[in-house]
Order: sequence, then structure tokens, then C-alpha cells
Amino acid sequence: MTKIIDSFRGEYDFLSNFFERDKLIHYDNRYWNSSEKLYQALKIGTTNIQEEELQKETIRLGTTKESKAYGKGKKKFPDGSILKLRYDWDTPNSLGIEFKQTAMSVVTALKYTQNPDLKDMLIATREKTLIEGNYWHDNYFGICYCEKCINDNLIKRRNVLGKLLMFSRTEYTLQQPLEIDLKDLQEKFMEGLDRHELEDIFHYSYDVLRRYLYRNTPFNKPS
Ligand SMILES: [Zn+2]
Repeated sequence: MTKIIDSFRGEYDFLSNFFERDKLIHYDNRYWNSSEKLYQALKIGTTNIQEEELQKETIRLGTTKESKAYGKGKKKFPDGSILKLRYDWDTPNSLGIEFKQTAMSVVTALKYTQNPDLKDMLIATREKTLIEGNYWHDNYFGICYCEKCINDNLIKRRNVLGKLLMFSRTEYTLQQPLEIDLKDLQEKFMEGLDRHELEDIFHYSYDVLRRYLYRNTPFNKPS
């Protein structure tokens, strides 16, 4: 059994930001049908409210592929404007985190918390390493497998999206079985214990489990 999922295609296309579904994400009082579109829209840095609204809606209503072109400033909006990046998009904050990473965290969290079936599918990838393998030279959110990138020892392969997904998976996995376990255990094995005793045991076990999972995940926090 393979321990790595390094292509967000086919069976695992739901992990990709290009995965589309009607009303996938509700954010900013509107629906977005792919996480990529919302991610690209979060780049908008104009302070002109009308321009911001036009750019946002153009990105939202166009295709996902187009949203990437708008986000990279390679495509003009209907009014002739070009996307101006938020000032802090690529600038690390005091914790060393660029806003683009925060944006990806928000988009990822919204996608999986608003779509329980996708959350279950993410949880079902269990302990597998997740990498968005690509050939478009993205070594920040994924890892590029082109010959040039692979042979370049100076490239830092950060796999930020993969790490965010694994981090979320750990959180969701921990959230999931607790309710069932509590009820189950109380009925089957711990009838004699009162609620407080039971909660004490659980808080302790939860902490142990949490530490175990974090230690056995190939990172401690998304970075
Ligand atoms: Zn490459």
C-alpha cells in the first residue's frame, strides 16, 4: 500500500484547489465553487471598493483556470484593471507567516468544515503523506517533479498545502471519534465512574493521543 499521495488527480482530485462543486464554499456573503477562486480573490489589494467588487465577482464568476491568470496579473479585468497584490501577500508577519499561507489555511478550513463528505474523505487518507506533485514549478505549496526542479539542490521544497491538509486531517481525526468513544466507554467499561472522573480520564487520554499524533506527523505546524 502506497504511503504517499503525490498527485491530486483522479481518486484524490478533491484535495486539489481546482476541485469544483456548486456552492463549495460560502465566504464574504457569496458562494465560491472552487477553493482556487477564493484563494485568488484574497490576493486583491486595491483600496477602491468598486474596483475590488468588480475584480472579486469577475474571479468568482469566471472559470477556475481564469482565476489563476487574474491572480497572477496575466489577465485584465473587464474595466482594464490588473490585480494588485495585497501589500502583505508575500511578506512574513512577526510569526514568519506570509499572508498567502494564511489565505490558504482559511480556504482549506472553509472547504473541509463546510463539506463533511470531503472532510471524511480527507480523514480516510489516514497517515499518508500528502504532496501536491506538479510540473508547474510550484515548490511552495507543493513539490514540482520536473527534471529541472528535481535536480536543483538549492530549491526549498515546502509543500505548504500538503502540510496544511495533513495538519487539518490530524485535527479532524482527533475531533471525530471522541464523542463515540466517550459514550461507548461509559456504557461498556466505565459504568461505575461518575462524569467528572470520566472526563478527567478522557482529557488525559486525549492529550496523550494528540501528542502521539503530532509526533508521528512529519511536521509540527504548517510552515
Ligand atoms: Zn519545475
